[in-house]
Amino acid sequence: MKSNVFFSQLAHKIRASEVRELLKWQEKKRIISFGGGFPDPELYPVDELADIARDVILSYRDEALKYGTTEGLDELREEILKFMKRFGIKVGGLNNIIITSGSQQAIDILSRILIDPGDVVIVEKPTYLAAINAFNLSSPKYYGVPMDREGMKIDALESLLKEIKRRNERVKFIYTIPTAQNPTGLTMSNERRRRLIELAEEYDFLIVEDNPYSYMLFEPAKYEHLKSLDKTGRVIHLSTLSKVLVPGLRIGWVIAEEEITRKIVLAKQSTDICSSTLSQYIAYEAFRRGLIDKQLKILPKFYKRKRDIMLCALEEYMPERTHWIKPIGGMYIFVSLPDVVDTRELLIEALNRGVCYIPGDSFFIDRSGRNTMRLNFSYPKTHEIEKGIKILGELFREVIDKHLFTKAVA
Ligand SMILES: *Cc1c(COP(=O)(O)O)cnc(C)c1O
Repeated sequence: MKSNVFFSQLAHKIRASEVRELLKWQEKKRIISFGGGFPDPELYPVDELADIARDVILSYRDEALKYGTTEGLDELREEILKFMKRFGIKVGGLNNIIITSGSQQAIDILSRILIDPGDVVIVEKPTYLAAINAFNLSSPKYYGVPMDREGMKIDALESLLKEIKRRNERVKFIYTIPTAQNPTGLTMSNERRRRLIELAEEYDFLIVEDNPYSYMLFEPAKYEHLKSLDKTGRVIHLSTLSKVLVPGLRIGWVIAEEEITRKIVLAKQSTDICSSTLSQYIAYEAFRRGLIDKQLKILPKFYKRKRDIMLCALEEYMPERTHWIKPIGGMYIFVSLPDVVDTRELLIEALNRGVCYIPGDSFFIDRSGRNTMRLNFSYPKTHEIEKGIKILGELFREVIDKHLFTKAVA
């Protein structure tokens, strides 16, 4: 039987995530991984979570094991609203927040409730691969905005918006990760955040603010969430416990205007009825017992150390004319190599030598960035970081030397 003929057009559009494919490699061989976007498992509060899980089942009993409402557990939503308020996000109440099965579910639902084929979606160049994959299923037309050390270039965005308007095309939303972006590690300046909100007003589009990383900043700098600057309800704020606590609970949330949350609830109903009730109770107790606050204290110091080790190793081992911008938070460093280095082509050799990274072109809607790569510093062990960077540095140097030699001979 050939199943292929039974698949829908949509199914034909679904591609294997390259990142997931790469991660399969890792399991086969002992590889130093700068590839995945995982927190360090050493930071998972295993014993505390075990206690909480047991307590939750025994004390809430059937409540913790039954179907819940699609919107999510009231107590957890109250707790998250209080939590977000500490970060400057003040919204009306429970009608403005929904629990999702990770932010990924929110991204997938937004793709379905906001995008008609051909609608314009603006993303950062580069941007989060799993978001592109989810948006792709609704066949948007993408425009990309380049970035510099202050994040998305707002001047470039403005010219782009003018051009789009001239073409009579409709921008539905802009998807941005303003703080410690994945994959670049870049953080948008406050000035640009303000300007972005103004442009959303002027050109009438929504902003999807994806925010998994603001909980791990390494410097005391204060950034305002787009949602906290939002006066007219244009910002849809997504966040998650995946990076700050553990990804396995699959607890994320959306904060938005009621009209939007209501539609998300309807779409979510047919997806999974509700996010895991058990996970929601565990998350609720994790907030209530101060476990999240404890993580907030530990994470930045722990990851800053790993970032610094990676920065030092890059400095020492990468070839000349290699660039990166020091991230002030999150889990990634994005590296640009000399043009002769094709990171996608070299990945197999890197894996053979025992190191994994993600080729940068995966994150560009136009597949540019063949000389870039994303390095994750949160997951590898500290002693592996230097070793892995050294191996990559040697590999890239060999390629550059060979190129110079070939040129000289020619
Ligand atoms: C890790 C990450 C998420 C989190 O996804 P979950 O589904 O909540 O685990 C969302 N957006 C970005 C940009 C990420 O890097």
